[in-house]
Amino acid sequence: MLILNGKDVAKEVRATLVPRVASFKEKNGRAPHLSVVIVGEDSASQVYVKNKKLACEAVGMTSTIHALPVQVSQQELNEKIRKLNSDPLVDGILVQFPLPKHLCAEEVLKLISESKDADGLTYMSMGHLLAGNPLVNPCTPAGVMTILRHYGLSVEGLKVVVVGRSNIVGKPMALMLNAANATVTICHSKTVNLSSYTRAADLVVVAAGKARMLGKEDFKQGAIIIDVGIHRDGPNGKLCGDVRFEELQGWAKAATPVPGGVGPMTIATLLQNTCWLAEQKAGLHKT
Ligand code: NAD
Repeated sequence: MLILNGKDVAKEVRATLVPRVASFKEKNGRAPHLSVVIVGEDSASQVYVKNKKLACEAVGMTSTIHALPVQVSQQELNEKIRKLNSDPLVDGILVQFPLPKHLCAEEVLKLISESKDADGLTYMSMGHLLAGNPLVNPCTPAGVMTILRHYGLSVEGLKVVVVGRSNIVGKPMALMLNAANATVTICHSKTVNLSSYTRAADLVVVAAGKARMLGKEDFKQGAIIIDVGIHRDGPNGKLCGDVRFEELQGWAKAATPVPGGVGPMTIATLLQNTCWLAEQKAGLHKT
C-alpha cells in the first residue's frame, strides 16, 4: 500500500512558497500578510492560531493575530472584519472557528471580502466553487487534491464516495472531485447502509468526524482511502482518524495516515491561498 505522506507534500508546498514570497517582497516592499481573528480563550483554537502564525513566518510571510474577548459583540466582530477588509496591507483574513455561541459564523462568512478569503469558506468563494470557477479553494479539500496530484493519482472516471457533507470539508471536497471528473456520491449521517456505497468506490474520502469508524471491510480491495478525520483517542490521547488505518495494509492501493496525512496540508494550503491572494491583489496573475 502506498502511504500518502501529507507531511512530505506539505513540506514541498512550503518550499515552493519561499521563492514566491521572496519575489513578492522584492516587487512590493513587503511580504504577503495574513490576519487571523480569534474570539475567546479556547485552548485548541489558540494552538491552531499559533501554528498558523509560525507557518507564515517559516515561509517568510507575516501575520497578525487579532484576539478578541469572549464577550465581544457581533457588531464589534463585524467592525473588525470590515477594518481588515479595507486595510491595504492585509492580503488574507481568517476567522478561527468555532466562534462562541452568541456569535453568528454565517454573518462572518458573508462579510469577509472574497478578495481576502484565505480559508476559501465565504459564501462568495463557495459560490465560485459551485459555479466551476473557483478563486481560492477551502484549505482541507484543496489539500486533499494536492496530495492526490502529488502522487499522480488521477480521479478522472473514478467512482468516488465522500463521507460527510459539512461546508468545510464534505461539500467542497465533492465539488472539487466532480470538477476533476470523478463520479461523486456524497454520504452522510442519514445514509442507509453506508458501507454498500463505500465498498463500491474506487476512492473514498472520509470526513465524518467519528473516530476509527471505518475499516478494511468497508472498502473495496485496491481502493484509495483519504482520511480527513482527526481525534484524540484512548487514555493516552493518541491521534487517530475516522479510518482504522492499520487494517488497510495489503488491502488498499493507497491511504493517508493520521497523523501525517491530510492535517499538514490544511495549513500549507492556507499559506498558498494567502500568497495567491496577495499576488492577485498586486496584479501578478494578470496575463
Ligand atoms: P462535521 O461534524 O461538521 O461534519 C461531519 C459530517 O459527517 C456530517 O455531514 C455528517 O452528516 C457526517 N456523518 C457523521 N456521522 C456519520 C456516519 N456515521 N455516517 C456517515 N456520515 C456521517 O465535521 P467536519 O468539520 O466536516 O470534520 C470532519 C472531520 O474532519 C473531523 O474529525 C474534523 O476534526 C476533521 N477535520 C480535519 C481537518 C484537517 O485539517 N485534517 C480539517 C477539518 C476537519
